[in-house]
Amino acid sequence: MIKCVNMGKKKSETKLCPWSDCTNPAIISPRFGVLPCDKHQRENVQVGRGYQFATLTQSARINQERDEFGADLLQPWEPDGITPNREFLMHYPERAADYFDGDDIKDI
Ligand SMILES: [Zn+2]
Repeated sequence: MIKCVNMGKKKSETKLCPWSDCTNPAIISPRFGVLPCDKHQRENVQVGRGYQFATLTQSARINQERDEFGADLLQPWEPDGITPNREFLMHYPERAADYFDGDDIKDI
């Protein structure tokens, strides 16, 4: 149990630990400003930092997969393999020349 070291002060002068739902007073560092309370600083070093890093990495990876998946949906050709895909042409007009002759897309 951590006791509040700022117990004697008025509430408005006490910065609270930035962790959500934490009511322990923050540690004020002249160099780094407001830091999490003693308990959370220790947890952060032990497990919190690794966990947060994993979370960030995971969401970044999901976004990347989503982007790649979205791009994969746009194939230059319709499933029949002969008809140019209008969606693809709308999204990547600059790439159309890589896939199609002028004749293929002139009436799209
Ligand atoms: Zn805390």
